[in-house]
Amino acid sequence: MNAKACVLGAEDVTVRYGATTALDGVSLRVEDGEFVGLVGPNGSGKSTLVRTLLGLVEPDEGQTCCCGRPIHRFEDWSRVGYVPQDAVHVDPNFPASVLEVALLGRVAERGLVNRWTDEDREAAHAALERVGIGHLADRSIGTLSGGERQRAFLAKALASDPDLLLLDEPMAGVDAAAREDFYNLVDDLNHAEGLTILLVSHDLPAVRMCCHRLVALNQRVVFDGSPRDFEDEGGLSEAYDMHVPHHPDRAGGRP
Ligand code: ADP
Ligand code: MG
Repeated sequence: MNAKACVLGAEDVTVRYGATTALDGVSLRVEDGEFVGLVGPNGSGKSTLVRTLLGLVEPDEGQTCCCGRPIHRFEDWSRVGYVPQDAVHVDPNFPASVLEVALLGRVAERGLVNRWTDEDREAAHAALERVGIGHLADRSIGTLSGGERQRAFLAKALASDPDLLLLDEPMAGVDAAAREDFYNLVDDLNHAEGLTILLVSHDLPAVRMCCHRLVALNQRVVFDGSPRDFEDEGGLSEAYDMHVPHHPDRAGGRP
């Protein structure tokens, strides 16, 4: 693997949890400025791949890299924003304000033992403004709607001003209108601000709208190409349980 040019990469990665093989020889390379959608059925290894890319899971075989360095030598975590799966499912009584959640995104810069500086507060406020919820800064995180809460976690991921964003099923369980706003926002982060993005999602219209490239996973990479080709290829999108809208131009087409 040419580690230098690799923003995010996996080479021949195999991950086993006991008798379960979650990833089997997976290779993936994300280039600077790309917006890649990662899809696959439940249990196909998407979250494991994201976590392995970030060095949170140690592969049994193969290696990963981040921002041009092998993952075990990568240290500049402020360059990476990560929204884990189910981040939004917080206890309604969780005693943190929206601003405090965004501030947690500054930990890579500050370390947990140091006090927040004015610069941290300004960055956290700016991140909340960037995702359109600056006015909710003082609200308790548990009182927000699903869509607002997801924006708060996106703000946390953006608070360190990263170059790279990994979003693991960020819009699961959120209503359609909030989903569309969120994807427009993420699309803008890629197109207007040049962030490299890896998005795990079951939402094919969103993936089609935003992503340059779609990677389908089922322990192995079974497709890597344009979202439109994925849709057209032998009912793959149905097999992957994607939300495929009815196309008027395909009336009576596919089952
Ligand atoms: P996805 O995100 O595509 O739903 P996951 O990466 O979460 O898939 O899981 C892939 C497989 O690995 C599943 O069979 C899951 O049950 C298993 N798995 C994931 N995490 C663990 C873990 N910490 N311990 C044991 N098995 C796990
Ligand atoms: Mg998952």
